[in-house]
Amino acid sequence: MNKVSTCIKVKVAIIGGGPAGTGTILKAMKDNSFEEYADGGIALVESSSDLLVGSITKFLVESDTLSDVFLECTQGSTNNYLPLAQLQNEITEIKKYAGSPIPLNALHTFLQSLGKLIENFFATNVQCKLFLRTTAQKIVIKKNNEFDVFLNNGSIISAKHLIIATGGISVNGLQDEFNFRDGIDLKAHSKKTINAHDIIQGKSNDLIAKMRSKSKIIILGGSHSAFSVADYLIKANKNLKDNSVHIWANTKPKLFYLSKEDAQIDQYDDFTESDICPITHRVFRLAGLRMNGRQLYRKMLVLGDEEIEKRVTFNLISNQAHKLNEELKSADLIIHALGYRFNMVDTYNESHDPIYYYGSTSFHWVNDHCNLLNEQGQLIPNLFGVGLASGFIPKANAGGEPSFTGQTNGLWYYQNKAAELILNNILNL
Ligand SMILES: Cc1cc2nc3c(=O)[nH]c(=O)nc-3n(C[C@H](O)[C@H](O)[C@H](O)COP(=O)(O)OP(=O)(O)OC[C@H]3O[C@@H](n4cnc5c(N)ncnc54)[C@H](O)[C@@H]3O)c2cc1C
Repeated sequence: MNKVSTCIKVKVAIIGGGPAGTGTILKAMKDNSFEEYADGGIALVESSSDLLVGSITKFLVESDTLSDVFLECTQGSTNNYLPLAQLQNEITEIKKYAGSPIPLNALHTFLQSLGKLIENFFATNVQCKLFLRTTAQKIVIKKNNEFDVFLNNGSIISAKHLIIATGGISVNGLQDEFNFRDGIDLKAHSKKTINAHDIIQGKSNDLIAKMRSKSKIIILGGSHSAFSVADYLIKANKNLKDNSVHIWANTKPKLFYLSKEDAQIDQYDDFTESDICPITHRVFRLAGLRMNGRQLYRKMLVLGDEEIEKRVTFNLISNQAHKLNEELKSADLIIHALGYRFNMVDTYNESHDPIYYYGSTSFHWVNDHCNLLNEQGQLIPNLFGVGLASGFIPKANAGGEPSFTGQTNGLWYYQNKAAELILNNILNL
């Protein structure tokens, strides 16, 4: 039997109700401007049964941001909209980690409960429509620059503005089109390859426990995930001895410091002036490793008064592709920590032709205002992307080191800077 399709018309549709998708909602509440944002209607579509939780609490590692960041969305005027007093216990639990990182799974109850308050708020606000346990399957961009979002329950949301916040998918290095480095065939080793994304969700604990003291583990990739997974491995398997875990990457890792002086005190000098944020004077404010990954790399470099960490080594591929190939052959386990790709929803024009995005080849889906970019790199009016792997780089006046070319992935951005840029655009501020 065909599903009956209903069509609702709103000013703003949001696909994905995780940390990024709820970012503009929480920011508007915090700034006491939610009525203005919701005027004309907001529809929020989320595949799972929870708002705000997304995927972040599935990772069995500590946050690479201070725990305090996760509570910032409860400040300002949020209390005018949500009965935050009901979250007193959850907030108290998070405050126990004040000034430090927090295990990401310890955020679950807080995020889920705050998400529930947003759900209840939506249920009683006539301007708000919530579609939980519902997936957006297709977007059509109409000639008038408005959008139709087709849901798996047969409904269609017609929106003037559309925010895509569907999270990221971990990059699969075994796929045909993936080229880690010329001359390196990752598929030849597929049987002993796993993804960092699975390891840090605890899905490969049996395999890790089996690793012996002489096991050789190669991690490919040099960013946060590579160092997070290395840290996870040495903590999960105490058998691992010196030289067990080898991180191989195309570029050198970077370390975050509060200031140039702090870096100098730590005897870290692997940076130039263009790696310093002109506003905050932080070194590698955006690209630098933080928290556990940072601590591990500092130990590997024996910086400050750290004791040397010999179980993990870092290798820059540079002209050593041949050596890496040999290492891959002799490795017991190969871990791909190759980052994330934006989980874009299929998009078409009114003639049913697919629309391609700049990000599918560049990994930068959005410009510095969170506008999604078409294949030619031009912004698509009223269409925004935010969240994991959207490729957002803050504008120079928002801070960050001029040398930065990567992605900024962090809840603070989704609930503050990125949310503000999107809200200003939608509200014409
Ligand atoms: C290993 C790891 C550690 C991280 N640690 C930190 C940290 O310590 N601090 C920090 O600030 N950030 C961290 N991040 C970055 C980021 O904050 C998190 O990844 C966060 O979960 C991203 O939020 P998101 O909303 O973009 O994506 P997700 O959390 O994945 O949420 C996306 C949501 O969209 C829904 N969805 C997807 N497709 C559809 C669809 N078609 N229709 C409807 N709904 C859909 C999903 O169900 C999900 O709820 C980390 C990221 C990773 C990978």
